[in-house]
Amino acid sequence: MRKINNSYFPLQLLNRKKEYIFLFILLFSFAIPTQANESTLSEAPIFIDGDPINTKYLMRNGHLLVPALFLKNTGATVDWDAQYRSIVFQSKNVRFAAPLGKNYTDDYIQHLGTWVRNPLATATIEFGGDYFVPIVDIANKLGMKVKYDFSINRTFITTNIASPTITYRQAESREKLVAITYDDGPEDYYTPQILDILKDKGVPATFFVLGKQVKANPDLMERIVKEGHGLANHSYNHPDLRKNWSSVVRQEILSTQDELQRVVGKKPDLFRPPYGAYTKADAVVLNQIGMRNILWNVDTLDWSGNSAEDILSIIKRDTKPGAIILQHNFKENRMLDGAIEALPQIIDELKKQGYKFVTIQTLLSNP
Ligand SMILES: [Zn+2]
Repeated sequence: MRKINNSYFPLQLLNRKKEYIFLFILLFSFAIPTQANESTLSEAPIFIDGDPINTKYLMRNGHLLVPALFLKNTGATVDWDAQYRSIVFQSKNVRFAAPLGKNYTDDYIQHLGTWVRNPLATATIEFGGDYFVPIVDIANKLGMKVKYDFSINRTFITTNIASPTITYRQAESREKLVAITYDDGPEDYYTPQILDILKDKGVPATFFVLGKQVKANPDLMERIVKEGHGLANHSYNHPDLRKNWSSVVRQEILSTQDELQRVVGKKPDLFRPPYGAYTKADAVVLNQIGMRNILWNVDTLDWSGNSAEDILSIIKRDTKPGAIILQHNFKENRMLDGAIEALPQIIDELKKQGYKFVTIQTLLSNP
């Protein structure tokens, strides 16, 4: 036994060493062809209807590949079909699926109700967690024009989709109206303080709420509505819409609408995308649901921990008739102490200048 053991252990060590060497060779040999075939990931702008939009890309067999979600910038909705492991593109009456790893698409023929398989310039691939598709071929299949300018080495796409949703950064108002808006709440630390100040000053605001916060704070939600403030949707989980499939975007909005219906019996038609970031396809989804897209034109940067003094000076500098002021109510890291301190001063200052505070609903119905 002992003899066997003595010979066994060194042999096992030797085997381990061999395993490591083998693993090293395997990794190394795998890494080299990958880098040679798929040139390392770079970023460059692609122009869509004249606007440069940066994207990761890779070149493969002479074809330009970009993440499938980048195509949302053209206005086409982009989804993932888990059952068929396919990326599904839809625009107007064109719908087709690009199965991952295949160099063909399955195209839906609407008037026949059938699918027809057609070749794709090169296979779709997964790379670094993204699904890459050959952009020229996909855009062409969506009925869009693609032009490559050799002199400046840039790609131009002309879409066939107009942005359907009206986006408001401010209102056209002759009257001195202003709307103060609160994003990301409600929560139980700052929101009650904000509501107390607004009530004391007799001023309405508009709350762009998160579905998950509505669910967690139903009493505050009821107070917001009861005290006459405007209600608006800011998604359920606060994702970057640009990085999500169209069906996820739709679900983020609709589940918040459902939560609001359940808690306060109301569904607003106002939406603000998290980070103010969205693609043309997200605007198409908003339009399908019947939501208006609300941004802002006065940003106090309260979320960054700005002092009351800084916030007040931004308000004085940037507020014009019809302004939409962006503020926040989230309690993480207690960043909003300056904003709470500033709020009574903001209200007093703007009232002194002759401004009237209104909800977004009122602001947009008063031309
Ligand atoms: Zn937000």
